[in-house]
Amino acid sequence: MDIQNYINGNFQNPIQNNWIDNYNPSNGAIYSQIPNSTTEDVEEAYKAAKIAFKQWCTTTLEERSRIMLKISELIEANLDRLAEAESKDNGKPVALAKMIDIPRASSNFRFFANALTQFASESHESVGQNAINYTLRQPIGVVGCISPWNLPLYLFSWKIAPAIAAGNCVVAKPSEVTPMTAYLLGELCNEAGLPKGVLNIVHGLGTTTGQAIVEHPGIKAISFTGGTATGAHIAKVAAPMFKKLSLELGGKNPNIIFADCDYDDMLKTTVRSSFANQGQICLCGSRIFIEESIYEKFKVDFVERIKTLKVGHPSEADTKVGALVSKPHLEKVMRYIDIAKEEGGTVLCGGNKVTVEGYENGYYLEPTVIEVPTDDCRVNQEEIFGPVVTIMPFKTEDEVLQMANKVKYGLSATLWTNDLKRTMRMTKQLEAGIVWVNTWLMRDLRTPFGGVKNSGVGREGGFEALRFFTEAKNVCIKY
Ligand code: NAD
Repeated sequence: MDIQNYINGNFQNPIQNNWIDNYNPSNGAIYSQIPNSTTEDVEEAYKAAKIAFKQWCTTTLEERSRIMLKISELIEANLDRLAEAESKDNGKPVALAKMIDIPRASSNFRFFANALTQFASESHESVGQNAINYTLRQPIGVVGCISPWNLPLYLFSWKIAPAIAAGNCVVAKPSEVTPMTAYLLGELCNEAGLPKGVLNIVHGLGTTTGQAIVEHPGIKAISFTGGTATGAHIAKVAAPMFKKLSLELGGKNPNIIFADCDYDDMLKTTVRSSFANQGQICLCGSRIFIEESIYEKFKVDFVERIKTLKVGHPSEADTKVGALVSKPHLEKVMRYIDIAKEEGGTVLCGGNKVTVEGYENGYYLEPTVIEVPTDDCRVNQEEIFGPVVTIMPFKTEDEVLQMANKVKYGLSATLWTNDLKRTMRMTKQLEAGIVWVNTWLMRDLRTPFGGVKNSGVGREGGFEALRFFTEAKNVCIKY
């Protein structure tokens, strides 16, 4: 099945007729073609969005909310189809897509359909000066949304939903590595009655299609999730054009485990926070630091659990670790395993490619645990973004804080302890946009989401996202 662009409510081929192969990671086969859209396609999408904006920005909140709720319901109604498509495109277990990716995509539309009806702007009375200020929160116009491959529909909708809720029209690009569910979303938007041109989806490579979106002078804001190097490049292009920018970038998150934690809960959750989605979640805790007194016990128990995780075809019900997203990504992750060995790391389990019977060309890798001698090594400093975690012991709170903060990234951190005072001290000092204590990836969509340092600029989630997708205009009236 070939994927087409979704522009002005229609599905169409790219103007230049350029196409890219789309791979199925579970067997390494090409199974569809996607457009490699150029500036001409982006221009057409922009024009459709600009025309639609005139009507959409004055569409009542109730009507916007009603349409978005309908999109949410249709995603839910198509759960199986979307989950299977997501799994085929990305390599993640179908069961995971059914439990996490697709329900969350539906929640994103539902959440912002409700949030937009509660979003309020401020007023300030200038007491003694006979004046009142009120602040309008007006939509920006046409905005660009660019998303990565790891949680395809989940992250694509996390951007689009607040953008259209706030009254903008969108030119969006999913990752060229996982375009399928974004393509299917177009159909559902038409079925839900989203007016033509409010959402336009152009497919293609980052360097062609993505670049054309970022460079377009009429697209006034860019919401981007992806790698740090790409984020830096986008910032360079967009800054001189004075575009609003939201950048959600890479991470190298610490998972800090103290001896006083609830051990069983910690162990179970740490298996998930290490290897869920083949370790390809920006929030995965890839550097595990364990208090010295429980280090040896943890090492044995953790490795024992990891060895039981079944690597297999994504559609088999008992598969816990599916295929990595692409061949180049698999090769990148495997290079890091070699680097770890060269740096004196010990592979405690995993480290090898897996051949799944019948799917010999799929991109499977064993979940890998590496004991590292020092925190300074490359595998502890650079983002690997695959099923590879490192473990090492620590002695004191100060020492582990210093190691946790030593990386250039600052997306999330996880802390396992029952000591309240320590929790208060450490959560203040950890350099991260999100800190989980005695849990991981528990999300309340009202909360601010984003990173510090090289993990990004700006916050998504709740009203933060609606603020990003609006311009504040203050009106001062003297009476
Ligand atoms: P990537 O940066 O290669 O690509 C992300 C998107 O940007 C894709 O759609 C790509 O086509 C596009 N792109 C690439 N070059 C571009 C350019 N010059 N102009 C405009 N767009 C361009 O990232 P990826 O490999 O798809 O995703 C993995 C990365 O995403 C990891 O670093 C991961 O940590 C990060 N990530 C971050 C978060 C977060 O919330 N902070 C969430 C998920 C993933």
